[in-house]
Amino acid sequence: MENIKNKVVVITGGSSGMGEATARYLAAKGAKVVIAARRAERIVALAAEITASGGTAIAVTTDVTKRDDVKKLVDQAVDTYGRIDVLINNAGVMPLSPIEQLKIDEWDHMIDVNLRGVLHGIAAALPHMKAQKSGHIINTASVAGHKIFGASAVYSATKFAVRALSEGLRQEVKPYNIRTTIISPGAVKTELLDHISDKDVQAANQEYVGQVGVSADSYAHLVAFVMSQPDDVDINEILFRPTAQEL
Ligand code: NDP
Repeated sequence: MENIKNKVVVITGGSSGMGEATARYLAAKGAKVVIAARRAERIVALAAEITASGGTAIAVTTDVTKRDDVKKLVDQAVDTYGRIDVLINNAGVMPLSPIEQLKIDEWDHMIDVNLRGVLHGIAAALPHMKAQKSGHIINTASVAGHKIFGASAVYSATKFAVRALSEGLRQEVKPYNIRTTIISPGAVKTELLDHISDKDVQAANQEYVGQVGVSADSYAHLVAFVMSQPDDVDINEILFRPTAQEL
């Protein structure tokens, strides 16, 4: 695992699930992690835990739907550590529901967090990475960014969009020596299902993920893998599933 130590890594959605696991794992490998999410008490506790065990971390309370918050997050990383090497746009929500229920506020919220949040991250990090002539932007998509399943239409639309955005970004940042990676997980055991308001859809997904889901560390290991490639190797996309997952 070369190429991780001392890298400055900003990770959104760091208060739980895959973001939390990744912050912990990268810090243990010597990265300087900047942990972002809305639940301040969680990320402050995580940064304290990492620091107490000899790592380097700060917590920055951030709502990725707010452009100014995300700019302040990245600027604080650069002010504290002098640069930003990796941005992991990982924050996301998945309130699945059939379209005919017209849960339009939930649609808007998914678009705001899952797509606009990623755009805000790119907008905040790109000027620094261009100036540095180096950087790595990792966007969390999903198997749902490749396939549509029950009640996933809007969520899938946001994740298809993240993949399209990431590929366009990849093509455009060649002059600046910036790497881009899409990581598309299958079922992972996290808090993601907690916010599904349709109780039937929630129960079905909880049962399925409870049966086949893998741990959030699976994602953290893949982030470390893509980061640790030599600088001239750019892993553009990883799609992974639990071995037991069919769709
Ligand atoms: P969790 O619910 O455990 O984590 C989601 C994270 O996103 C939390 O840290 C949450 O923090 C943060 N978040 C949500 N809304 C905002 C916001 N407005 N601003 C800032 N942070 C926000 O789920 P996962 O770890 O599973 O999710 C991580 C990513 O993985 C998401 O993009 C998800 O779509 C994707 N994914 C998950 C899969 C799975 O099976 N678990 C499969 C495929 C993709 P807070 O509430 O404190 O703000």
